[in-house]
This record gives sequence, structure tokens and C-alpha cells, in this order.
Amino acid sequence: MEASPPVGTSTAHTGHGSSPLIFIVSGPGGVGKGTIVEVLVERDPVLWLSRSWTTRDQRPGEADDAYVFTTRDAFEHRIETGGFLEWTDFLGNYYGTPMPEPRPGRDTVLEIEVDGARQVKALHPDAILIFVLPPSREEQARRLRGRGDPDHKVDQRVRKAEEEEPIGMALADHVVVNDDLGRTVEEMLGIIDRHRARHRGATA
Ligand code: 5GP
Repeated sequence: MEASPPVGTSTAHTGHGSSPLIFIVSGPGGVGKGTIVEVLVERDPVLWLSRSWTTRDQRPGEADDAYVFTTRDAFEHRIETGGFLEWTDFLGNYYGTPMPEPRPGRDTVLEIEVDGARQVKALHPDAILIFVLPPSREEQARRLRGRGDPDHKVDQRVRKAEEEEPIGMALADHVVVNDDLGRTVEEMLGIIDRHRARHRGATA
């Protein structure tokens, strides 16, 4: 009798014929990660975007399904019951990735900040971290203001970016500058394809 493969490692149904990959998209606030991952999953149907939980308030105009918006109590209960792959406290709010269910045929994309990226890399050293940088600090601040963040929040997030960037760049497998959305997405799709090809070769 043949032994069954461990849960989540079956290669029978994966879109690229081998076990699933985890792509982490990280980078400072206002760099455009949210828009980038939206376009990536539209362009590449094998990618599956994990939806995070957060305790921060929904922004005006933000989609209801951008996050699972929840309370601190519910979040803390989920931490205690081991329901997160990673979680962090980012500028006073909790953010976390629910423990993923195996999704046959799909590669997972996580859009998370640097502390979460570090936790996922520690648990899954094969996860591929793409760190996105803004073209400049001025442009980052302009994008943060453009999505309606008040001045004090913009300053807070710019200062946080200065802390996060050296850590993220040291952890990253790839660093991409988001100077133009279309170009950045093409570069990232190329990175994803190269990792799949390498992975297929390694597991063939
Ligand atoms: P925002 O409040 O701007 O939506 O997100 C703040 C930061 O939290 C962003 O850098 C975003 O990528 C990150 N983030 C979103 N979801 C998660 C998550 O599940 N885990 C972690 N560690 N960070 C997250």
C-alpha cells in the first residue's frame, strides 16, 4: 500500500504540477502592495490571496472584503487557539494571517508587513519574499495622503517605513521598486514564473 503524502504537499492537482509555493509581498505602507497583489491575482489564476484579519477600522471607501475586520477580543481568542500562521501589532492594531487551508492547485500570496514576513520565513524557509520599495519618500507620502490618511498618520507610517526597509531588504529574496504599476507587476510575474520553473525542476 502506498503512503499518502502529508496534507498540503500533494502534487496531484497543483496548477504547475508540483507542491504549492508561498509568495510574500511586503514593503512599507503606501508603496502600493494592495493594488499590486490585486492585479497579480487577476493576471495569474494559480495565485490565491490570503485574506488577513485586522482590528483597525475600515477606511472610507475601502472594500468590505479587504480584511476580516474584527475586535481585539476576537483576535486575541484566535491567537490563543492557534488560528494564525503569523500575526503582529502594527502601529497599535493587530493584523494576522489565518492558518491557511491546503488549496490544491494554487500558490499562496500573502500581503503583509515585515514582522509577519520574518515569521513566515522562519516557519517556511522556502517562502519567497518580494519586498517592494517606493520610488522615493516624497512619493510614498503622496500616495498615503492620496488614500485619505491624515497628516499625523502619514508621518507615523513614513517613520515606520524607515525602520522596516533595512530589515525587509535583508530578508528579501527580491527587491522591486514600484515606480510604475504595470512595469512592477510584469517584473513580479517574471519572478513568480522563474521560481515555479526552478521548483518544478527541483521536484521533477
Ligand atoms: P493597512 O492598515 O495599511 O491596511 O496595513 C498596514 C500594514 O499591515 C501593511 O504593511 C499591510 O501589508 C500589513 N498587513 C496586512 N495584513 C497583514 C497580516 O495578516 N499580517 C501582517 N503581519 N501584516 C499585515
